[in-house]
Amino acid sequence: MAKANLNYLKLPGSYLFSRIAQKVSEFAESHPDKKIIRLGIGDVTQPLTPVVIDALHNAVDEMAEKATFKGYAPDLGYEFLRKSISDWDYKRRGCLIEPDEIFISDGAKSDCGNIQEIFSTDNVIAVCDPVYPVYVDSNVMAGRTGDYDESKDGYNGVIYMPCTAENGFAPELPEKVPDLIYLCFPNNPTGEVMKKDRLQEWVDYANRNGSIILYDSAYEAFISEEDVPHSIYECDGARDCAIEFRSFSKTAGFTGLRLGYTVIPKNLKADGVELWPLWARRHGTKYNGAPYIVQRAGEAVYTEEGQKQVKDQIAYYMKNAKYIYDGLKDAGYEVSGGVNAPYIWLRTPDNMTSWEFFDYLLTKANVVGTPGSGFGPHGEHYFRLTAFGTLEDTIEAINRIRNI
Ligand code: PLP
Repeated sequence: MAKANLNYLKLPGSYLFSRIAQKVSEFAESHPDKKIIRLGIGDVTQPLTPVVIDALHNAVDEMAEKATFKGYAPDLGYEFLRKSISDWDYKRRGCLIEPDEIFISDGAKSDCGNIQEIFSTDNVIAVCDPVYPVYVDSNVMAGRTGDYDESKDGYNGVIYMPCTAENGFAPELPEKVPDLIYLCFPNNPTGEVMKKDRLQEWVDYANRNGSIILYDSAYEAFISEEDVPHSIYECDGARDCAIEFRSFSKTAGFTGLRLGYTVIPKNLKADGVELWPLWARRHGTKYNGAPYIVQRAGEAVYTEEGQKQVKDQIAYYMKNAKYIYDGLKDAGYEVSGGVNAPYIWLRTPDNMTSWEFFDYLLTKANVVGTPGSGFGPHGEHYFRLTAFGTLEDTIEAINRIRNI
């Protein structure tokens, strides 16, 4: 008899954003006259930049001609894109990452979720708490995290590394050494970062203990401060202990186009076994490549004009971030993030739970945010707002929040 993967039943409730969507749609149905402003899900609102649109048009034209038509993409991704990434994202920052250490994919979510497949199921994982839910959920599905423990609001087999106001939302090195360490900086949801000297301590710790760091820097393009690393490979020794994930989603507005990449240095080993060939094997077996036209669009981002245009777009969102941060702070909220990331993390007033505050904002200000508890136990009593709305909506939302 067929048996289902019972690990899926260990996932509590529905995925965070489905629950939010359900609550919002119920509210919208019963209050059709209200204009709801969504600063919850981290999705972009600005259209693709002109260089990207031109590249897409050109690539579509190529697909229409027999001489230039493209079928399946190479397993790792097209050389033209991997070379641009290696030059612009790494070599120009002093990091020696070669094109064939870069694997192109349809986004960082797939890669962050799938990477656990190349590690043994008995590895112990550590995650920032709060953090992007995909890391824990994908490990639960693979049976790596033990049972859900209601009393801890977390899984038995996971080391949760609290990110709190006291430690500047950057975790301490765990006493019990994990095998796999997920780090996400700039962090979703707190919007906070880890300075270079702090990240170097993590790299040294991982190298000392034989751990692998899975570093998600999907938001590196939003970094505005000098001493904040854009890549973990800016730290000495990171090539010996780290895998990095990047995304075009927030950097260049590709959430609907889909493009991302993963870096696995050729020399990286887990207990003596090289990881690059394992990921190449997995990629080749289960993935048939990001579309040619999308890879051409990605390449267009790595030109002088492309960089200027995406930076302008990021500046637009970061203006929203500043408006939210300043507006809420001025209204007496305890806020963080918003300087090196498009997320503002606020403490709920009057000790409300995250979901109580969600309902309160939805009903009183018709503004949607994301309850912090959905990102991990230490997210309770916090709330995330995103800077990805339009400027007009952002101003209106903050004014409404200030008025309740
Ligand atoms: N990593 C983090 C931390 C994110 O917040 C997100 C998206 O919200 C992703 C990865 C997913 O990115 P992509 O759109 O490339 O799948």
